[in-house]
Amino acid sequence: MSVKLLHIVAPVFALTGCMSASAPTMVVKPASISEFLTQCDGKNGWSDPAPPINITANVYQVGSCGIVALLITSDDGHILIDAATKQAAPAIASNIERLGFKLGDIRYILLSHEHWDHIGGLPTLQKMTDAKVVALQAAKTALESGRITDEDPQAAVHPEFEAVSDVQVIEDGGKVQLGPLSLTAQATFGHAPGSTSWTWQSCEDEKCHAIVYADSLTAVSGDSYRFSDHPDYIASFSNSLKRVAAFDCDILITPHPSASDLYNRIAGNAALVDPQACEKYAKTARKKLDARLLRETEAKK
Ligand SMILES: [Zn+2]
Repeated sequence: MSVKLLHIVAPVFALTGCMSASAPTMVVKPASISEFLTQCDGKNGWSDPAPPINITANVYQVGSCGIVALLITSDDGHILIDAATKQAAPAIASNIERLGFKLGDIRYILLSHEHWDHIGGLPTLQKMTDAKVVALQAAKTALESGRITDEDPQAAVHPEFEAVSDVQVIEDGGKVQLGPLSLTAQATFGHAPGSTSWTWQSCEDEKCHAIVYADSLTAVSGDSYRFSDHPDYIASFSNSLKRVAAFDCDILITPHPSASDLYNRIAGNAALVDPQACEKYAKTARKKLDARLLRETEAKK
């Protein structure tokens, strides 16, 4: 099956040629949210194994109890965003297979940001899938060196991680295309220099939703770091918050599920589809950043 290439000005990654994904050997249903919550009860760890669950249409959470690894599927192959921790990687691979998909049909691995709880499992999954790893330049620098860059507010405290080789750079606004899938990289600098949100449409029964996998927006740092000493950093972070608030956003998903109340929403205890979700997410982050800046000012007096 050939892949349609759209005419888009921004850099586009697309796989061409005959690469139709192998049909699943067996159709296995994802776990129910209640099965998921039972297995994760009392655990919220970043490496605690969890069963795979469907979020919407072709979008699955295949990560751990406490960290999202997002599988987006198509007949032309699949895309994985984030790989949780190194310890979680084997369970992520099992989850993908449990859903009836083949690891070799994962064509791309993307990421939210270059911290060990989201990319620790990346080298393992890269080897298991042979997928292309695509990231913003700032994230690539960290991934390939196995340590976050000095610009990162967590530089002094963040542990080193296994380096990732052969990372392809995507620019802000660039698209990763695979058959019917088209995901846009949105640079949302702030939590980390390489912070990336991903936006796309997922459709089911002829109904489409704008999905936003919005990166963490928390202003977290090492003890001695002061955001207020870095006005350019704050300015870029603030721009990201405005950008996230303005996304076309029917369904918000976040790398840390609690940040978007994800499991409650999948369980039907809160709205899964909420066009104001990104705006609210950015507003909460803005308040926390302002509070942080105020604390820094107070501490200086
Ligand atoms: Zn982080």
